[in-house]
Amino acid sequence: MEPKTIKKIGVLTSGGDSPGMNAAIRAAVRAGFYYNLEMYGIYRGYEGMIQNDIKKLDSKNITHVLERGGTFLKSARSAEFRTPEGRQKAYDNLKSHGIDALVVIGGDGSLTGAHLFYKEFGVPAIGLPGTIDNDLSGTDSTIGFDTACNTAIEAIDKIRDTATSHDRLFFVEVMGRDAGFIAINAGIGSAAAAILIPEKKMPIEELVDKLKVRSKAKKSSNIVIVAEGGKSGGAAEIAEKVKKFLPTYDIKVTILGHLQRGGAPSSYDRLLSSKLGVAAIEGLIQGKYDVMAGLINHKVVYTPIKRAIVDDKTLDEDDFRVAKILST
Ligand code: ATP
Repeated sequence: MEPKTIKKIGVLTSGGDSPGMNAAIRAAVRAGFYYNLEMYGIYRGYEGMIQNDIKKLDSKNITHVLERGGTFLKSARSAEFRTPEGRQKAYDNLKSHGIDALVVIGGDGSLTGAHLFYKEFGVPAIGLPGTIDNDLSGTDSTIGFDTACNTAIEAIDKIRDTATSHDRLFFVEVMGRDAGFIAINAGIGSAAAAILIPEKKMPIEELVDKLKVRSKAKKSSNIVIVAEGGKSGGAAEIAEKVKKFLPTYDIKVTILGHLQRGGAPSSYDRLLSSKLGVAAIEGLIQGKYDVMAGLINHKVVYTPIKRAIVDDKTLDEDDFRVAKILST
């Protein structure tokens, strides 16, 4: 398609926040200024677009945000944007500011919204994968995933100290929604005894046998990583089931929860967000619409949003193999 002339770009963050969103906003805004564009912040995601919570940004708005977790534009979930009337209101507000194009930073839901909006109103949009879950295709890693894994590992290291001191068995639940990416990364990185993920069911009996073998080998601490959204239940449920088989074990449960969403972005997330923020603006200038910018093998790749949101990103089989070898 012939690129449209774009002068004003709106940036928003939507859905769950993730570390690196600020760095991505900052990179998009800086790149916009570099290409002599006017940049607008749309606050509180699509909800702010409907409420007309839209402000022109200058360089002061993006000073010292790169290193901060969260999103200074705030994020939200908007039920109204799911309705044609809500999207019409959002479109009218964009037009009132003369905004010609959008950079949408969020997860699959937020990108679905951008895709629909492009189809209905022809507003050029580029999505950036902003979610700790790493469950979007078209990018090796999503913005915030690396930081969330680092945060989980740091927390598990601390849990290991107490687990070792008391010969305890810990079940640690990590985030990731229906995907086991954080669990497998954090599990390998923290020498977990077992990793339970939604993608591969491990029967309780198998887990119990594994723990018994480790007990015979006199392992002084056992940490089992459980991905939220697992088919056998969360960490608390699994711990209950295991307790029935191993009544003498001192079993504890820790749910890491929202601390995995916060914190300063890692070096990798800063690089990823910065490259993708620039790629978003350059993509819009080149007429790449209705796509998500991602990084594959360190190179920017634009994938149609419709393709990126298909829930088919799979865990690397080699990760399973390595996890298995290292936990025996
Ligand atoms: P996370 O992965 O962190 O949950 P997300 O972007 O997937 O992030 P959602 O709550 O699914 O989070 O979506 C964010 C917002 O995007 C929704 O509140 C809604 O405003 C918009 N959205 C999601 N799906 C649609 C849809 N099918 N049509 C229109 N808008 C949508």
